[in-house]
Amino acid sequence: MEKTLHVLGLSGGKDSAALAMYMRDNYPELDMQYYFTDTGKELPEVIDFVNRLEGYVGKIVDPYEEVYSSNREKKDFDYHLRQHKNYLPSPQARWCTIQMKLVPFEKWIQVKMEQEGYTKVISYVGIRADEPAREGFLTNNITSKYLTISMPFRDDGLDRNDIFEILRKADLLGNEEEVISYRKLFVNSLTGEPIDPTDEAKIDLMKNFIETRNADAEKTVESGTLAPQLTPETLLKIVESKDQGKPGYYGWRSRSGCTFCFYQQKIEWLRLKEIYPQAFEEAKAYEKKAEDDRGNGTFYWLGKGTPLSSLESETRKIEIIENHELRVKRFEKKSNRRSNLLREKVIVSDTDSMDEIYDEAEGGGACITCYK
Ligand code: SF4
Repeated sequence: MEKTLHVLGLSGGKDSAALAMYMRDNYPELDMQYYFTDTGKELPEVIDFVNRLEGYVGKIVDPYEEVYSSNREKKDFDYHLRQHKNYLPSPQARWCTIQMKLVPFEKWIQVKMEQEGYTKVISYVGIRADEPAREGFLTNNITSKYLTISMPFRDDGLDRNDIFEILRKADLLGNEEEVISYRKLFVNSLTGEPIDPTDEAKIDLMKNFIETRNADAEKTVESGTLAPQLTPETLLKIVESKDQGKPGYYGWRSRSGCTFCFYQQKIEWLRLKEIYPQAFEEAKAYEKKAEDDRGNGTFYWLGKGTPLSSLESETRKIEIIENHELRVKRFEKKSNRRSNLLREKVIVSDTDSMDEIYDEAEGGGACITCYK
């Protein structure tokens, strides 16, 4: 007799999170197994978001924990990096996704099939109706024999705006102090009437938060916390993103996944440096290891011959920021030309449209396992 295992992988990104909520609300009859494979190198905001999501959809398992419960620490990124002789993963050699996500996933599935009698597996992925058909899956031969892919958003006709609406309604981050205070700006405290706060008022609020945080400087430099040099403008983007139900990192970064993911754009590396300087330094330290082992010809996170230290010069930083702003403007213009008929002004969020801004189909080949 056929017995189907339904699985839905969470990346920490918005689409898979929205899909999990959508499936729970619209297909409650499916015994869905939610999973999230923590690489150990995720942003703290990703972990926080996944934990909150668990409160909404129910148990989320980590296949890595399930199959390597006795030697988890021995199979982390550093372990695999040693196995790969300090050769950093890259789009051409994406051993990180295979070893840290797909192998544990497959082992987990196999154990479940053997022990619980499943005969086939359906994996649900968050490809939307407004996206092109994608090949961005990495599965190896074993699972592809019994694994099929289902795309409920595509089948049910949900696009990007529908996904934002699902996140906004769920409002997983709405109880955060910064979000609560930010929302108060939009209400007249005396009359209760809605108001439109000035940009200055928003920035002032962020300044207050930063000052309070920095007053306890000891705490703020601990690993995993936001940096003390964070600007009010950046914090505002983070809070605005949370206000819309998205994880805070969408205020400055277009993807979930590892802090050092090589699929991020240079502008995102610069922002990582500002917001999580310790993660940027860690990424540099991995490059140093690779360099010590290989010398000339090292592949860095940004590719051959381009170490992260090349982003640290003030001139280069300005160049990257200016180039990014130019691309955003160009993209905004194009989007507005397209929507002219609707007479709506399109306001582009660079993190929602990073791939389009950089003309990269399918995230430059990034596997949806990591960021969808
Ligand atoms: S997020 Fe990036 S670095 Fe991490 S496993 Fe995925 S592709 Fe590799």
